[in-house]
Amino acid sequence: MPNYIKSAAPKPHARPLSTSVPAIVKGVIDDIRSNGDAAVRQYSEKFDKWSPVSFKLSEEEIKDIISRVPEQTIKDIKEVQENVRKFAIAQRKSISDIEIEIQPGVHLGHKNLPISSVGAYIPGGRYPLLASAHMTILTAKTAGVSYVVGCTPPILGEIPSSTVAAMYLAGADEIFILGGVQAVAAMAIGTETMRKVDFIAGPGNAFVAEAKKQMFGDIGIDLFAGPTEVLIVADEAADPFTIATDLLSQAEHGPDTPAVLITTSEDIGRKTIEIVDTLLTRLPTAELAGESWRTFGEVAIVGDLTEAYALADEYSSEHVQILTKRPREALEKMRNYGALFLGEKTCVSFGDKVIGTNHVLPTRKAARYTGGLWVGKFLKTVTYQEVTSQEASGRLGKLCGRAARAENFEGHARSGDLRDHLATGSEYEW
Ligand code: NAD
Repeated sequence: MPNYIKSAAPKPHARPLSTSVPAIVKGVIDDIRSNGDAAVRQYSEKFDKWSPVSFKLSEEEIKDIISRVPEQTIKDIKEVQENVRKFAIAQRKSISDIEIEIQPGVHLGHKNLPISSVGAYIPGGRYPLLASAHMTILTAKTAGVSYVVGCTPPILGEIPSSTVAAMYLAGADEIFILGGVQAVAAMAIGTETMRKVDFIAGPGNAFVAEAKKQMFGDIGIDLFAGPTEVLIVADEAADPFTIATDLLSQAEHGPDTPAVLITTSEDIGRKTIEIVDTLLTRLPTAELAGESWRTFGEVAIVGDLTEAYALADEYSSEHVQILTKRPREALEKMRNYGALFLGEKTCVSFGDKVIGTNHVLPTRKAARYTGGLWVGKFLKTVTYQEVTSQEASGRLGKLCGRAARAENFEGHARSGDLRDHLATGSEYEW
């Protein structure tokens, strides 16, 4: 049993979403369904105090905005996008189409086809999360999606210029400065000025995640990528200063970010708590990070690493960082995580911002059943079949007749009987 020397109630992974969120989101979606652009504008004014002449940026506006982004930022965006692209291309190559002859004359295959149109949500209520542009738009384009629209909110009434640069360089076909539920609903439903898409990807706050959830069915979605989470597994070899720094690096995302340490060393656990408290007095984003840490921060002491991995699997956290003597061991021992960060030479911030693996990852225990965003999420695996011999067609026809009648499907059975008749000349009456 773990001994919690700092605990949270309710447990971070069991924290309820605010009960008002689903109702607010439903109201906005219903209104946009009925009133299109007029409702989009009304909610953008209400939630973001944002009502430009057009939410869509023209090519000239995009060029002008990008011209004001510092040269070094553009270089950095390009370097990071190269990392994301290289990994995404390698992942795409690992996905193959197949065709096999499962018995003589019976050919089955599958193909992986890109989705035609995608809406990418790039969050930005608090921070210009420009890295989300690489993760969504660039990955969709690498998968072969022909039309990608990107939406990102204004920040305090301003267009986030580096985010626009990242969206453009990632290959967005259209860019809208529009945030929250109104952006997700506009992309999912379609309005006078927004083309309806088939699929929406991207992370966001509780409103954005709920909007994607409510629109699922009308459109496909990537995954439940809500408020971020971090969990660190550390043994007695780990450095508490590194642990504290890395916990806070995620806690600053928002006031609802669980940051959890599971360690085999009570000494390291207690030192980490002390250091976090000290660092919070110096971190410029301490207001958010401190609230997260006080509400959802946890430190659990366990008997050994086997217990640590089992407890970490129960949390099924979005990010899991392994600070132990043999970090790669976690690859064998753990099953539930969005992304693993092995050893102290890397960190979750690398994953968030630069290294090239996708940072759109499952939260709220969704890591039990899905990994994060990747090129594969933008592909549909579709099947086909062909029977090339009369003999095989007749054999399957007989089997189909019997199988369908066992289910009382006489229409299906007669389709099967017909193939038998065509192959063997057997009696056939309709
Ligand atoms: P955001 O773009 O997700 O949300 C901002 C929008 O929320 C605004 O445009 C506004 O329209 C809407 N909004 C705000 N308050 C509202 C209210 N009361 N009612 C209705 N709508 C409201 O940006 P954010 O808020 O900064 O959040 C970004 C989130 O993305 C963070 O929680 C972060 O942890 C998360 N994130 C998750 C992942 C992941 O992969 N899981 C990756 C990156 C970021």
